[in-house]
Amino acid sequence: MGKVFGWETVNFNRLEVSVRPSSTNLVGPPIISEFTGRAMCRAADTTTDVGRDNKMGLFAGKKGLILGIANQFSIAWAITEKLHEQGAEMGFTHLPDGDRPKNEKKLRKLVDPIGAKFTMPCDVCDDAHIEAVMDKAKAEFGQIDFILHSIAFASPADLTGPTYAASRKGYLQAMEISAYSLLAVAGAAKKKDILSKNSSILTLSYFGGEEVIPGYNLMGICKAALECGVRYLASELGPDGCRVNALSAGPLKTVSAQGVGDFDQMLALYGAMSPMRDNIDMEDVGKSGMFLLSDLASGITAETVHVDKGFSKMGAPPADFVESISG
Ligand code: NAD
Repeated sequence: MGKVFGWETVNFNRLEVSVRPSSTNLVGPPIISEFTGRAMCRAADTTTDVGRDNKMGLFAGKKGLILGIANQFSIAWAITEKLHEQGAEMGFTHLPDGDRPKNEKKLRKLVDPIGAKFTMPCDVCDDAHIEAVMDKAKAEFGQIDFILHSIAFASPADLTGPTYAASRKGYLQAMEISAYSLLAVAGAAKKKDILSKNSSILTLSYFGGEEVIPGYNLMGICKAALECGVRYLASELGPDGCRVNALSAGPLKTVSAQGVGDFDQMLALYGAMSPMRDNIDMEDVGKSGMFLLSDLASGITAETVHVDKGFSKMGAPPADFVESISG
């Protein structure tokens, strides 16, 4: 990595891509390490804004379920923080543990201080787990106003190669966890009749489900199915007063993101090519996720909303980007 006229150069495949250090609070480091720095700052912040008692917020009196917090870098946690700031009451699930309660501990460390109503294990491949979560939500809340589904998985062996090399088993597993699970969760909530008359379901997607993003591979196919599922669910649950949307986030360094090939190049490319010449951060995705789950978004359903600094709308690279790679 070198420096050219104040821009950092990053190898993007065989091209050298220049990325402008952002003008935000962290001075100097290139966008990739700046990103990491920001993620760490966000995580550090989380200890300071817990324990609020907001009876006046957008989510005052509202109750919901959060599926998909693995740790403090999870997108679901960024959205949870914003929901909590607005007064939401929430129950949480984590991936079931083996002998030691690692996942439960990580989750509870975050959500106990914000007054989690309950935490429980849930593997979305198991219908009995999903049903148990809905039963718990019914017992605890009666009805719920929102569900955040922030879950995806593909085994590295099936994700890192070309899509034509994915195994049948790996494809089915990735699809089951990353796309089918949204239908299963929404279906279980409907079956238990726990969705309020003004409810909202939100899932997380990525642009690789719409266009080819090298490295995203099998997960792109899963996201295409997920986004299509959002539209069908929205049509089917709309008459019950339930909105269903996907938030298509730009790249963020989380545990899941580590499995995606060329991830650092993706970050560099977004920083160099997006209209804002920047990457999103956890604050961006947290606010937008909270908005889509809130009544402020009462007219929005069946949508995939991009929170990506505009990257997905660029049909061709901007002139400064082209100059930086040709000169
Ligand atoms: P993360 O690893 O923090 O979250 C993924 C979650 O999925 C984890 O909590 C994990 O426990 C859960 N999960 C995996 N398999 C499961 C199963 N069988 N049952 C129940 N839960 C299971 O990573 P993240 O980046 O916060 O991912 C959340 C969502 O956001 C995913 O759908 C991901 O594809 C999407 N997304 C991520 C990015 C990014 O750059 N990080 C960008 C766009 C969209």
